[in-house]
Amino acid sequence: MNEYDSNRILDLTKKINYVSTKKIGEADCYILNTCHIREKATDKVYHDIGRIKKEFRNKKKPIVLIAGCVAQAEGEVLLKKEKYIDAVIGPQSYHEINNMILNLENNTKPINFTEFDVIKKFDIIKQTKNSDSKVSSFLTIQEGCDKFCKFCVVPYTRGAEFSRSINELVVETKQLVDNGIKEITLLGQNVNAFNYEGKKLSELILEISKIKGLKRIRYTTSHPRDFTEDLVQVHQDCEKLMPLIHLPVQSGSNKVLENMNRKHTIEEYLEIIEKLKKTRSDIELSSDFIVGYPGETQYDFEKTVELMKKVKFINSYSFIFSARPGTPAFNLKKVEENIAKERLTTFQNLSRKIKTDYREKLLAKTLPVLFENETKEGNKYFGRDEHFNSVIVNSNDNLTGKTKNVKITKLNQNTLFGEINTKLVHKDFAA
Ligand code: SF4
Repeated sequence: MNEYDSNRILDLTKKINYVSTKKIGEADCYILNTCHIREKATDKVYHDIGRIKKEFRNKKKPIVLIAGCVAQAEGEVLLKKEKYIDAVIGPQSYHEINNMILNLENNTKPINFTEFDVIKKFDIIKQTKNSDSKVSSFLTIQEGCDKFCKFCVVPYTRGAEFSRSINELVVETKQLVDNGIKEITLLGQNVNAFNYEGKKLSELILEISKIKGLKRIRYTTSHPRDFTEDLVQVHQDCEKLMPLIHLPVQSGSNKVLENMNRKHTIEEYLEIIEKLKKTRSDIELSSDFIVGYPGETQYDFEKTVELMKKVKFINSYSFIFSARPGTPAFNLKKVEENIAKERLTTFQNLSRKIKTDYREKLLAKTLPVLFENETKEGNKYFGRDEHFNSVIVNSNDNLTGKTKNVKITKLNQNTLFGEINTKLVHKDFAA
């Protein structure tokens, strides 16, 4: 979501004649867009400011803005602690960014913009053409969260659940497709809680899928409680919808899920997966896990291991519990660090093994790959298969934006390598 927000900030600031530069030392304004999910994010802000200070030691100081959830959650502290920062702006106030910059061009007083005004934000954003022109792009359709998991900062930094209008989203998708985009990932902190005047995510997907030129649709991140029957069904009804679903579960233990206030059980979670696989047999899952949540016993952890073995997630993102200030879990008694670390290692070894076993089965298979760009090495193209696996092939032809059938010949932990199967022309390309 921060990538989407950064692109929109860039589009907004173009209106006051700012353009992006890769040469940091030449910037007049430096905007650092931040995430507050884990502790390290705040440290990174101070680290980055140190880097900018060094870069501008003998030059005119640029305007320095901290955007995103760290700004929202810790704005006052940042402004007090680091005088080099001119302003902080929360994620629901981006529509004010140009006023803020213009103000700072003539004024040195620190500014704090951390209001929750999501309606106004999207009202202004919809008037600003989305100029993203990569092959695969993000589109924020929903923001905020009403679930209040005890470990999470999102309800406090992004506010209550809000869904954008279907018409507005169709217009923005068309703009992106006109720019050359072939794949879109619909984004939301609780993407499947999307509900605009009674219309749900499944309806939005079907509407967007009608746009000619758009080849693939993905969505992330879903909450199990909002995984309704219509969303399961749309995986059968919409050919453009890709068969990889990111469905965070966090723990395999019902006791831990309850302690986290996740509002679902493991049995309910498994039931969703069963329904999805019945709907479309090639569906695969990825998930997020928190290891060592306060109160997690060895038995609870083993339930997480059991879940991993059962579902065989093809990708998983696992972290040791990180206590975030302002959340109910902040003051809970932590699992001893060495135990938490040991559990994380066990879990990650297992998930790596499952991932490797899955990927080895892809050898010699032919997969449709949408190519996104030429790699730095030249004559090699990077793309993704339907399950979001990275694929690289050699080619003298420009493959960017094309879908090709690729026979997988080699792989490592992160990438599949292959050659274009010329005998099997992909339907997107044949037309
Ligand atoms: S559902 Fe997701 S975004 Fe919402 S509080 Fe829980 S972890 Fe955070």
